[in-house]
Amino acid sequence: MPEPESLQYVHTVISYRAPFHPLTDHQAQEAARYWRRRFSIAQHVVVERISRFQVTGEDGHPGWPLIGVVYDTDLATIYHTRALTVEDIVHELLHVQNPSWSESEVVHATGWVVRSLKSPLSG
Ligand SMILES: [Zn+2]
Repeated sequence: MPEPESLQYVHTVISYRAPFHPLTDHQAQEAARYWRRRFSIAQHVVVERISRFQVTGEDGHPGWPLIGVVYDTDLATIYHTRALTVEDIVHELLHVQNPSWSESEVVHATGWVVRSLKSPLSG
């Protein structure tokens, strides 16, 4: 199957712009599709923007920021209250790809992937 043009665009964004650059919601959807395939994730991946007022914090009050992923064997949903970056998407999808990893293992692997994107040798 030929690669959709949109995925090529996402690859260009990833390769030539900072992985911490905020993406539009549409770019975030495409980046999630790109990384889902790159990480060989079986689940369908959905990106869903939610309001901070849907998020209750440790103080028991709504209005908290959140980026997180909820997944089962069929579906992974990345919830976010602010614009996602490539780094966010890589991080959340590494959780899905590696359910047994601790948060610090995911953080470490995310850093490795992000640094590899910034390398001039990564193409
Ligand atoms: Zn995490």
